[in-house]
Amino acid sequence: MSVEIDHVGIAVRSLDEGLAFYAGQLGMALTRRETVEIEKVHLAMLPAGESVDAPRIELIEAADPESSIAKFVEKRGPGLHHIALRVDDLAASVDKLRATGARLLNEPRQGAGGHLYVFVHPQSAGGVLLELIQK
Ligand code: ZN
Repeated sequence: MSVEIDHVGIAVRSLDEGLAFYAGQLGMALTRRETVEIEKVHLAMLPAGESVDAPRIELIEAADPESSIAKFVEKRGPGLHHIALRVDDLAASVDKLRATGARLLNEPRQGAGGHLYVFVHPQSAGGVLLELIQK
């Protein structure tokens, strides 16, 4: 079973502000913008590398004052929000995590790009909000 870095999620006050740095000043390519209704967020994806599997920077802007990203930014300011690892079989990973007592924040569901994902509570993941994603 292989695990790879899929993306690093960065909470920003606005995508335009985040893009001014990562795309504008740093010169990364913006490959996709999308809204994920269930998470109440707008996303911008910037691959770090040439391949289709290259890890990405995911800029996250709250689409609603009630979203967890709005609360995060309000409390701590913009910054590193989560790390996402890509797994081969999300259901198998989830079963194993549950069996070993890890705390999951949601049932596996479809998110950005139609991929299945689940969030693992920082308590179970070394203090980091962890997203597991299956491509
Ligand atoms: Zn993410």
